[in-house]
Amino acid sequence: MDLLNIKTYLRPHDVQTISNWGEGWAWLAGGTWIFSEPQPHLKVLVDIQCLDWSEIEVQEDNLVIGATCPLIKLLHYPWPSEWTAVEGFKSAISALAASLKVINMATVGGNICLALSVGTIAPIMVALNATYEIWNLNRESRQVAAKEFQLGSRQTILQPSEILRRVLIPVENLKWQVNYQRFGIAASDPALAIAVSACNPDNLQLRCAIAASVPAPRLLELKTDVETLHPRFLQDIDFIDNAKASATYRREVTQVLIRRSLQQLKVF
Ligand SMILES: Cc1cc2nc3c(=O)[nH]c(=O)nc-3n(C[C@H](O)[C@H](O)[C@H](O)COP(=O)(O)OP(=O)(O)OC[C@H]3O[C@@H](n4cnc5c(N)ncnc54)[C@H](O)[C@@H]3O)c2cc1C
Repeated sequence: MDLLNIKTYLRPHDVQTISNWGEGWAWLAGGTWIFSEPQPHLKVLVDIQCLDWSEIEVQEDNLVIGATCPLIKLLHYPWPSEWTAVEGFKSAISALAASLKVINMATVGGNICLALSVGTIAPIMVALNATYEIWNLNRESRQVAAKEFQLGSRQTILQPSEILRRVLIPVENLKWQVNYQRFGIAASDPALAIAVSACNPDNLQLRCAIAASVPAPRLLELKTDVETLHPRFLQDIDFIDNAKASATYRREVTQVLIRRSLQQLKVF
């Protein structure tokens, strides 16, 4: 949709040339969310598409994914076959309750920074122990664990003018077994619960990221899958309670998805 309140559109070749960031400014990536609904608080859009941050490459021991990498590129990239965890990305993107048009344009950074509770990319990044590199306009950068990035629905640790530059995933973790499970009332509805299980086949360490049923992705580290049968499993977690589903329902569905995703891992 047209955003008639936008007075300025910038398309810098270096974000650090921007010096006067103020109220009503926003980064524009794929634009699939920004242009999908009125944004009355916005006055300036800073388009980051021409920064050429769409790389997929290995640096030192990490797979690096640039923030403006379109989701579709993760689906079609010729991944090494030993990176079994890549199936997790593919399931996450295929599960996106959006049209192919959105998947073609939407970016990894846009999906992570939008920070919807139903965000599809964040839980896989949390399960794989990814790190996010964040830049500010003073040429400083910091890294934060994916599990610390999102604070709630549409809330992150980003300060005004900070930008997500890239995602780093340890290459070793890409050899983990991963399974992504999602449940929504209908396939095209936003998810009510997401569970992503991951297992390191070398030490059989189990982790599970849950999302959609909670405001921000949450990492559970499990000693064994038997833990999921305990009557108090998930009892200490606050689940979303709204008109779409009660907290009790979301807890039960999340538990089912966790068990299902653990059963699908090829290590048992
Ligand atoms: C009909 C529809 C259904 C959808 N359903 C789902 C769903 O089920 N699950 C799901 O996960 N998503 C869903 N989405 C959201 C979709 O995935 C997002 O539109 C998309 O991920 C946003 O990516 P984008 O690159 O287009 O970001 P934009 O729309 O350009 O930006 C989104 C937000 O992120 C900020 N931003 C973007 N890049 C950065 C960056 N590098 N650093 C800091 N801030 C940044 C922008 O300022 C803006 O606030 C849906 C969207 C639509 C329109």
